[in-house]
Amino acid sequence: MFDNSDRTEIGAMGEFGLIQHLSQHFEVKNSKTFKGIGDDCAVIDCGDHFGLLTTDLLLEGVHFDLSFHPLKHLGYKAISVAVSDIYAMNGMADQVVVGLGLSNRFSLEAVEELYAGMQIACEHFGVDLVGGDTTTSQSGLVISMSAYGRVAKDKIVYRGGAQVGDLLVVSGDLGGAYMGLQILEREKRVFLEVPTMQPDLEQYDYIVGRQLKAEARKDVIELLKILDVKPTSMIDVSDGVASELHHMGKASGCGFHVYEEKLPIDPQTIDTALTFDLNPSIVALNGGEDYELLFTVGQEDYEKIKTMPDFTVIGYATDVTSKNMLRTKSDNQFEIKAQGWPDSQKD
Ligand code: ADP
Ligand code: MG
Repeated sequence: MFDNSDRTEIGAMGEFGLIQHLSQHFEVKNSKTFKGIGDDCAVIDCGDHFGLLTTDLLLEGVHFDLSFHPLKHLGYKAISVAVSDIYAMNGMADQVVVGLGLSNRFSLEAVEELYAGMQIACEHFGVDLVGGDTTTSQSGLVISMSAYGRVAKDKIVYRGGAQVGDLLVVSGDLGGAYMGLQILEREKRVFLEVPTMQPDLEQYDYIVGRQLKAEARKDVIELLKILDVKPTSMIDVSDGVASELHHMGKASGCGFHVYEEKLPIDPQTIDTALTFDLNPSIVALNGGEDYELLFTVGQEDYEKIKTMPDFTVIGYATDVTSKNMLRTKSDNQFEIKAQGWPDSQKD
C-alpha cells in the first residue's frame, strides 16, 4: 500500500496532509456510504434520509488540563464537540458512544462527575448515550466521542456548496474560548508560584465559560429551519475561522472576503485580548474552539436573516479560489492565513 523505505516526519505534513495521505488508498465500496472523508461528518444513505457519523478525540494535556477543567464541564464539552459536527451538516444528533481511557488516579466520584456533565449535555441536545468502551490509560484521561445523527436528503449542507456572491455568516461571537484559555493558564501559573492566591475569575465568567463548557449550536439549526433558510455551505468553528474558511473555500472552489469591522467579538474577549497585548480581530479569526457555525447563504436569503441578533454577516464568497482576504478597519487588505496575516496589500 505505502512505500515505507524512507522516514518522513508527520509534523512536516500537517494534519490535513496526513489525513489525505493515509486515506488515499481507501475507496468507498459500500453503496450506502454516500460521502466518506472530507466533511464534518460521513454521510450514509439510509433510503429516505441521510445518516451522519462523526468522531472526536479529547486527550488530557492536549485538549484539556484537569488542573482547571472541572470534570462535569469536560463531560458536557465532549458531547458538545461531537454533536457540533452533526449540526454543521444541518442535521440533528440522535446517539453518542463514549470511549474512555482512565488511569488509576481517577476515583469513582471523579468519573461520576464526568458522566454527570455528559448527562446534562445528552438532555440538552436530545441525544442518547448508547454505548462505548472503557480501558486503562498510562497517559492521562482519554475521551473518544462519536455521534450519529440524521438529516433530510434535501436539507443536507456540505462544506463545498458556497457560490460566488453568497453571504458569509457566523453565529454567536468569536475568540472567547481562546481568551478564556489564556486566563485559565495565566491563573494556573500564578497559583503554582503562589499557592495561597485564589484566582478571581468572576470578571472573566463569559470567556472562561466559553472555554470550559462549549455549547454546540443546535438552536442555530432549529432557527434556520424556522426561517426557511438552507445555507449553501457550512462548517463548525473548531480550529478557528481562518482555518474553517480555508476548508470551505477549498471544498467550494471559492475564496472569501471578510470585513474586520463585522467580526462579532464580545467586549470581555476584546478587553482580555488587549490586556494580553493581542489584537482582538486576530484572536477572533484564529482562536478556535468557539463551536459556532460558519455558513454561507444566497443573497436572496439576506432579508430572512438580517434581523437575527445571533447571526452576523461578516463577508462574502469571491471567485479567487482558496484565497481569503480581510478588509481591515483602516481599509487595508490582508490575506487571511491560518496564523496571523503575513501578507499585506494596499488597494
Ligand atoms: P472536524 O474538525 O470537523 O472534526 P477534522 O478536521 O478533524 O474535522 O477532519 C477532517 C476530515 O478528515 C473529516 O472528514 C474526518 O472524518 C477525516 N479524518 C480525520 N482524521 C482521520 C483519520 N485519522 N483517518 C481518516 N479520516 C480522518
Ligand atoms: Mg467540524
